[in-house]
Amino acid sequence: MTPPPPARTDAVLAGLDALTWLEDTYRDLHRHPELSHGEVRSAGICAARLRELGYEVSEQIGGTGVVGVLRNGEGPTVLFRADMDGLPVREDTGLDYASTATDTDREGIEHPTMHACGHDFHMTWLLGAAALLAAGREHWSGTFIALFQPAEETGDGAIAMIEDGLVERLPRPDVALGQHVGGARAGSLHLRPGPTMSRSENLKVVVHGLGGHGSMPQYTIDPVVVASAIVMNLQTVVSRTLAATEFGVVTVGLLHAGTKANIIPASAELHLNIRSYDDAVHDRIVAAITRIVNGQAAAAGCPREPEISAYDQVPLTDNDPEVIARVRAALEAAGEHVVDGEKITGSEDFSWLPHAWGIPYAYWFVGGWDQAAFDSLEAAGRLLEIPSNHSPFFGPVMHPTLETGVRSAVVSSLAHLGAAAS
Ligand code: ZN
Ligand code: ZN
Repeated sequence: MTPPPPARTDAVLAGLDALTWLEDTYRDLHRHPELSHGEVRSAGICAARLRELGYEVSEQIGGTGVVGVLRNGEGPTVLFRADMDGLPVREDTGLDYASTATDTDREGIEHPTMHACGHDFHMTWLLGAAALLAAGREHWSGTFIALFQPAEETGDGAIAMIEDGLVERLPRPDVALGQHVGGARAGSLHLRPGPTMSRSENLKVVVHGLGGHGSMPQYTIDPVVVASAIVMNLQTVVSRTLAATEFGVVTVGLLHAGTKANIIPASAELHLNIRSYDDAVHDRIVAAITRIVNGQAAAAGCPREPEISAYDQVPLTDNDPEVIARVRAALEAAGEHVVDGEKITGSEDFSWLPHAWGIPYAYWFVGGWDQAAFDSLEAAGRLLEIPSNHSPFFGPVMHPTLETGVRSAVVSSLAHLGAAAS
């Protein structure tokens, strides 16, 4: 693997200081968070900036999705993704640019809103990188795609763009890249090959019994008892099906049956959440769940087989080792502070995008916590006091977080783009 010559990276990054709008754009996006699928204003800001920079811009893909394409001669195509949505959280950071905004969700309910997951950084970074790559286009060749995705928080924004014909609308990328801000020390970049965020899937299970009078169970097949047996037996899935070294979670988060104490209901419903870092492990978990559900229903003599359906499927984020190695080498050559990333139990819908083309990808984390505050908490063994993403107190510092994320987006993209045409 050969990282790009530092000279070329330096030449493109030299324009960073001239991006005087970066901070204002960040403050503006931060003050105006929008809920998933309603990112109209944010999308408008991204599209307008891309147009100004000379990108071919497509809007309203999968709702509010925006894509800018910069064709710069022969060479590889790099897709860089940023998500745009905020969260229904009332900001309590005390920052002078804190959000006081509200937004209405798809059910018509108004919420205080906040960029509590830092997607305002993601947009600003990508706009900054798009600007530097456009200004420095004589230093590389190929095609750069800046993709602004709606609705990451609801897990269905990437899919919405794909279902709206994303693959047909874009030049085929060779690689997809993305990055997320978090509570690590500002200026640090956290990369790991292989699984980096978990796969998540929900299952809805409906058990069909035979309803009747609570005093006469002999005429019924009680789905409450079947559902209860299922819940208890599901506890063996992780403990007895997986190796002690394998990660998996099976949670029954919802169990519903019946209307009244003396009526045996006709059916019961269970909703399960499954997490894993490995698709094969996921498949084994689902197979074990299916056996237990069907087996318990059969044992009770249920008149119909249970129904099992999956929803809210968020894929595994499983970094391609070669792409990660290439990005890491380029970042280190550019003088960035790179550390080994840890697995995150949360999930991201980013990898649906590379899956749509069957291309490799890398996704990493950018520290955003004030360096002095981080160092003193670390020295005191109190790092858990740093608010996590989604907290009302989640307040990454603007500097150097803005600059770090723009540089890492540029450096990682240049690591995959072609050399300048001579
Ligand atoms: Zn989030
Ligand atoms: Zn996020």
